[in-house]
Amino acid sequence: MSYCGIRGAITVEENSRDCILMNTKILLNEIIKSNNIDLDDITSIIFTATNDIDAVYPAVSARELGIVHAGLMCVQEMYVKDSLKMCVRILINIDSNLRQKDVNHVYLKGAVKLRPDLAKKNFISIAIDGPAGSGKSTVAKEISKTLGYIYVDTGAMYRSVALYCLDNGIDTKDDFSVESVLDNINIELKYINGEQRIYLNGDDVTSKIRTQDVAKGSSDVAAIKRVREVLVDTQRKIAKSCNVVMDGRDIGTCVLPDATVKIYMDAEISERTKRRCGELKEKGIVFDFDKVKQEITQRDENDKNREFSPLKMADDAIFFDSTYKTAEEVKNEIINIINERF
Ligand code: C5P
Repeated sequence: MSYCGIRGAITVEENSRDCILMNTKILLNEIIKSNNIDLDDITSIIFTATNDIDAVYPAVSARELGIVHAGLMCVQEMYVKDSLKMCVRILINIDSNLRQKDVNHVYLKGAVKLRPDLAKKNFISIAIDGPAGSGKSTVAKEISKTLGYIYVDTGAMYRSVALYCLDNGIDTKDDFSVESVLDNINIELKYINGEQRIYLNGDDVTSKIRTQDVAKGSSDVAAIKRVREVLVDTQRKIAKSCNVVMDGRDIGTCVLPDATVKIYMDAEISERTKRRCGELKEKGIVFDFDKVKQEITQRDENDKNREFSPLKMADDAIFFDSTYKTAEEVKNEIINIINERF
C-alpha cells in the first residue's frame, strides 16, 4: 500500500448549490471510475473553488456520494488574472495499491483546456428508449441522480417544438410550415434545484409541454426529418460534453449508437395508461382514461411507423418489461448492469 494523489477539475454552469454539487459529483465519479478506487481507500480530499462560485461547499457532494471516512477540506482558490472561471478542482489522496505513475487525472467540461493532454474525451452515456408511459423518464431521472449524470429528456425538446407551433397557429402536421419556423425556436435545458427545466425562447415551459394537445403535436413534429436533424444535433452535443442518461425513442438506434449502455423499456398498455393518468392527475389536468389510452396507442403507432428514426429497440439494447416492477426495482437492475460494464 502506498499514498498517491489524483487531480481533477471541472467547470460549472452557474453559481447555484445544485449545479456546483452536480458537477462536483460528475468529477468525483469520473475520478473514482477511471482509477477503480475503493471509497474506503480515500484518506482525504481537498476541494478548491474559484471565487465566483460560493453557493455551497463542493465537499458536500463527497458525503452525498457515500465518501464518509475521508477528511475533506474546501478552500477558495487564489485569484490569478485571466484564469479559468467557475471552476472546481479536486485533489483526492488515496492509500492503496495504485501507484502514482499509473493514476488517471481527470479534466472535464471547460477544464479540458487546462490539460488537453489528459482530457477524457469519451463520456459515459446511458440510452433509454421506449414507448409513452413505459416508465423510462422516472427511471432515467433516478439513475442520473444516483450516478451524478446529466438527465436529458429528449421528448421535452419535441414537445417544445410542438408547443411553439400550437401557440403560433402552425399546423404540426405541415412539414413545410414547421420547417420554416425552426430557426425561430431556441430550446435550452437548464438544471435548477436538481431538476431539468426546459426553456423555449427564454420562457420556462416545463409544465406547459405536458398537455395532451402538446403530446399529440410532438408526435407529429417528430416525424419531420429536419426537426429531428436539429434536435439530434443538440442532443449529441450534450452527450459529448458530460456523462448523460438520455431517454427518448431513437437514442440507442440513432442519437447515440455507441452509447455505453442501451435499455429498451416497455409495459402493457393498461399499465402505461394508468401511469400517464397518474401523472395528469398529479398535475391537476382533467382526463378520460379511455381517451388517454387511445392517445398513447395512436402516438405509439405514429412513432413506430414513421419514416425517420422510428421507435424500435436497438439490436444491442437490453429489454425491460416494467409492467409488474416498481421504478426502484428497474433502477437498481439497470445500475447493476451499468456497474458490470466498468
Ligand atoms: O417522451 P415523450 O412522451 O415526452 O415524447 C413526446 C414525443 O416526442 C413522442 O411521442 C415522440 O413522437 C417524440 N420523440 C421522438 N424521439 C425522441 C423523443 C421523443 O420522436 N428521442
